[in-house]
Amino acid sequence: MNFKLHEDYFRSIMFGVQDGLVSTTGVVVGISAGVSNPAIIILASFVAVSVEASSMAAGEYSAEKAVHQLDKKHKHKDSLVIGAILMFFSYLLAGLIPILPFLLFPIDNARPVSIVAALVSLFIVGYLKGKIVKDQAFRSATEMLIIGGVATAVGLIVGNFLKV
Ligand SMILES: [Zn+2]
Repeated sequence: MNFKLHEDYFRSIMFGVQDGLVSTTGVVVGISAGVSNPAIIILASFVAVSVEASSMAAGEYSAEKAVHQLDKKHKHKDSLVIGAILMFFSYLLAGLIPILPFLLFPIDNARPVSIVAALVSLFIVGYLKGKIVKDQAFRSATEMLIIGGVATAVGLIVGNFLKV
């Protein structure tokens, strides 16, 4: 494969996918703990994931711009706009994964399916990341599962505690 992904684009995608999975799982499971209408859960989750994807894209643009402005040797050749777009779609598409079970199953079943789908996705993303950076894929997958899993657990505990 001759195509080489720019490292800043790679980071945008990794960040977007991981954050999209972790935060959206917290949001959708949290909302479903306090709301019993599936349409409202899905609508609220779609709003949350869209707003968050836009905000992350804006954050990516601004943060990367600051890095580029610091880079006086002009090593950064990546486009700020492409980085922001990659962040947006990575976050949005990954965020749809924990929402999808709520479209398919009753709420009580959707909740565990959503969490498991997010964790399995984190594992797969970690595995692919390991392959791409030529590290031990299984270890990379496990690390991603643990880091993402802990963040997801914190979100779920806080969401459950506050009954948001
Ligand atoms: Zn850059």
